[in-house]
Amino acid sequence: MYKVGITGGIGSGKTTVCKVFEVLGIPVFYADTVAKEIMVKDNILIRGIKSTFGEKSYFADGKLNNKHIASIVFNNETELTKLNALVHPAVFRAFDTWEESISNEVPYTLKEAALLFESGSYKMCDTTILVTASIDLKLKRVMQRDGVTAEQVKARMDKQLSDEEKAKMANYFITNDEEYSIIEQVLVLHKKFLEVASNKK
Ligand code: ATP
Repeated sequence: MYKVGITGGIGSGKTTVCKVFEVLGIPVFYADTVAKEIMVKDNILIRGIKSTFGEKSYFADGKLNNKHIASIVFNNETELTKLNALVHPAVFRAFDTWEESISNEVPYTLKEAALLFESGSYKMCDTTILVTASIDLKLKRVMQRDGVTAEQVKARMDKQLSDEEKAKMANYFITNDEEYSIIEQVLVLHKKFLEVASNKK
C-alpha cells in the first residue's frame, strides 16, 4: 500500500488537513493518538516502561502515571530519548497492524505524526507532506484551542524541529495560512497520489 506521511509544527493544522483527506475516503493513522492509547494497551511497551522508569509508572488499575513519567523526562533529554525509544517502535507495530486491516480497495493511506521526521517514521513512508503556517497563526490557533498562554505554546514549539529543518526532508507542502485554501491544495495532492499509487500497484 502506498503510504503518505504528514506532519507539521504544533498548530499548523495537520489534523485539520487530514480530516479533508478522510472526507475523500483516505484512511488516516493518527500516530500521536495511537501512542497515548498503546501506553496502556501494548504489553511489550508497558513492560519496557516499567523496567525503565519503575513500577510506579502505572497505577494499580493499569492507568498510566503521567505525573511520574513527566517528572522523569521533563527537561531531561537522555530520559526522553529512552521513552521515545520505547514508544516509537510500539507505534510502528501498531501502524503495521492498522495497515493490515485496511482494504486493498483503498488507493493509499496517510500517517499523521507530529514527530514524523524526528522519530524516523518518515523512512517507512513513500512520500511526505509538511503542513506549514506562520508562527503567529500557529500561536493564535493553539492558544484558542487549548486555552494556554503564548509562552506555553512556544515551549512546546521549541521541542520540535523548525519548519526549515523539516522542509529539507519533506516532499510536498501544504500552506495553511489564511489566504490559502487547504481544500484546493489537498485535491491537487490527492490527484497526484492516486496516479502514483496506481502506477505502484
Ligand atoms: P497539534 O500538533 O497541536 O495537534 P495540529 O497541527 O494538528 O496541532 P490542528 O489541531 O489541525 O493542528 O489545528 C489547530 C487549531 O487551528 C484547531 O483548533 C483547528 O480547528 C484550527 N485550524 C487549523 N486550520 C485552520 C484553518 N485553515 N482555518 C481555521 N481554523 C483552522
